[in-house]
Amino acid sequence: MPLIDLHSHSHYSDGSLSPAELVARAHARGVTTLALTDHDSVAGVAEAQAAAASLGLSIVPALELSALWRKHNVHIVGLGVDTEHTGLTQALAAQAGARGRRALAIAECFEKLKMPGSYEAALALAGNPESISRTHFAQWLMSSGKITAMQQAFDRYLGQGKKADVPIPWMPLEQAIAVIRAAGGLPVLAHPGRYGLSKTKLRELLAEFKALGGAAMEVATATEKPDTVRYLGQLSQQFELHASQGSDYHGSHMPWIELGRFPALPAGCLPVWSLWQPATPNKDVP
Ligand code: AMP
Ligand code: MN
Ligand code: MN
Ligand code: MN
Repeated sequence: MPLIDLHSHSHYSDGSLSPAELVARAHARGVTTLALTDHDSVAGVAEAQAAAASLGLSIVPALELSALWRKHNVHIVGLGVDTEHTGLTQALAAQAGARGRRALAIAECFEKLKMPGSYEAALALAGNPESISRTHFAQWLMSSGKITAMQQAFDRYLGQGKKADVPIPWMPLEQAIAVIRAAGGLPVLAHPGRYGLSKTKLRELLAEFKALGGAAMEVATATEKPDTVRYLGQLSQQFELHASQGSDYHGSHMPWIELGRFPALPAGCLPVWSLWQPATPNKDVP
């Protein structure tokens, strides 16, 4: 049985596993096609492909771009990108620079809160100053006993408007879609239920996303309730967007998420993979 998981992270962003470990785990969980979608990075794709080759698992070269729509930080998955495309490489370098500067600014906020050592800890987890994510600061808060659940890191410190929130001027939605298209990929609106948007605002986002060249939206994601998955399925049909699915696996620091584990796409949705797997011709029909 094919099992297609189109959203996952490695240690090249805020996941805990190397690409090879991620691929081995996906294979063990029965995943047959995996998109590696690190935040603002395609650095792990070649390693994932090398590890997958001997297992018969198929890797979709991909990423998850951070973008701005109005004042909202939204995530756009790019499926099937050319990881060496110059426009993509340049855009990722700009995002990485902003990420590196923000990490220093977040650490300053923690210094002011008399909570020293956050930068060194986040850097040790990320491995690279320009890959430091809010998740790494959240892991430091957890491991040093300052919080007891990851969610508290965002509710108290790192979420919008909180004490250690430093907004990044991510690329606008329009640019994220254009960059992914230019690199030959399909832009997919990630986890539309997680932006805290009203139904009206979400419809505005979907209309704009579609008009700007968006191809699909995630419908079946691990953390959504069945009612939400059904509702997102209806929206995908109304806005003529293909439907995507994935776990958004991060690793041991988010143990409630597992590779290959998410609800089924509701009936009537057009799977995004139909865009790269044309229907096999029926030889019995002349
Ligand atoms: P960044 O791209 O550095 O702004 O970090 C965003 C990442 O933080 C997301 O990709 C999630 O992995 C993680 N994150 C955001 N909100 C939460 C939350 N409420 N609980 C746990 N992780 C979260
Ligand atoms: Mn993440
Ligand atoms: Mn995301
Ligand atoms: Mn993700």
